Amino acid sequence: MLKLFSDIFIVIGYTRSTIHDFTRGGFKFIPNILAKAIKKYDGKIEYLDLKKKMSLNRMDLFNEYYNFLDENEYIFDTEESNLLNFIPINMHYEYPFDLLSVIIFISSDNINIIKASLLKNIFFNIPHFKFIIEDNISPSEIIEITNIIHSKFVASITLLIGNKHKKSSSFKEIEKSSLINVIYSNINIDANYFISDEYQKRYPFLFLYKGHLQLMEATEYNTYLNKRIFIDYQADIKHVPESTVILGNLSQIEKKDDLLIIINSDIYKNICSIHRNKIEVCRDCELRMICIDNRIPIKIDNYWCCKTECSYNPYICKWKGEEGYIPIKECGSYEKETGFVPDKEKISKLNKQIWGEDE
Ligand code: SF4
Repeated sequence: MLKLFSDIFIVIGYTRSTIHDFTRGGFKFIPNILAKAIKKYDGKIEYLDLKKKMSLNRMDLFNEYYNFLDENEYIFDTEESNLLNFIPINMHYEYPFDLLSVIIFISSDNINIIKASLLKNIFFNIPHFKFIIEDNISPSEIIEITNIIHSKFVASITLLIGNKHKKSSSFKEIEKSSLINVIYSNINIDANYFISDEYQKRYPFLFLYKGHLQLMEATEYNTYLNKRIFIDYQADIKHVPESTVILGNLSQIEKKDDLLIIINSDIYKNICSIHRNKIEVCRDCELRMICIDNRIPIKIDNYWCCKTECSYNPYICKWKGEEGYIPIKECGSYEKETGFVPDKEKISKLNKQIWGEDE
């Protein structure tokens, strides 16, 4: 029987699919016809029967597909009696920390509140910290903050500071720490940092592959929002910098339990669970399990969508700027009840023009 290794994970998109290797990391693109066949007949069929079931127009393609799966060790051949030895991986995501990360914008308005909160251990049991530091904060204050946080149990600290500090000798010592990563920004860091054109241009959305934990998280949660919080320049607590919903203010948080009330609230948890299978267009995208999109989903009528279009069009597999790209809105339309309805005929014609015939 042909069997997919348990650590291989297939994500079917509208036009093509991705195949992911949990153990070795990374992914490759595969045609939908192959993805659907190996998902459907996994552990149920012999090599020759799969060849018949796939009924490709060009049969030499089957050998090409099979060799690809075999060479990459995605599938193997085994006796039917062995199949029970290969149990599926449990994809349920659990994370042992209250939050995965906190991003703190340090400004002259909130620096004292931030210091007090760090000293009160409000951010206890959070492994990753990122500080975005307004340009007018002095190196000595930055170092004071890193010293407080360094004394806690943390896995990583990232400091995003303005280029003007690059030559400052004050940072040489903290740059030696294996826990601290200092990044110098060439964008002015002030209260308008996240809405500046330069920031928006640099981050239409983030797209990073972080391995199997991310895949597991993406099956149940939104990987940009889940277990993250952001403290803005007024010490307002939000999900992430792009959020408009204010969950509280750090000045009113006296102890860790007060913060836990916020992150256990329905308003916080509900948005974490809007994973990309629930968002229009993203649910048709083969990159949805590895995408960290920083657009905030909004509910319109019966569906979740985002105000702006993604730079990637999953219906024609083209990024904005690539030859042949057209915007998503030209590949279908939004219907009140069903959300985005792809225009199948138009997409099929476009894909033939761009990519040639199927298979
Ligand atoms: S459409 Fe864009 S935002 Fe949505 S999953 Fe695909 S790449 Fe990510």
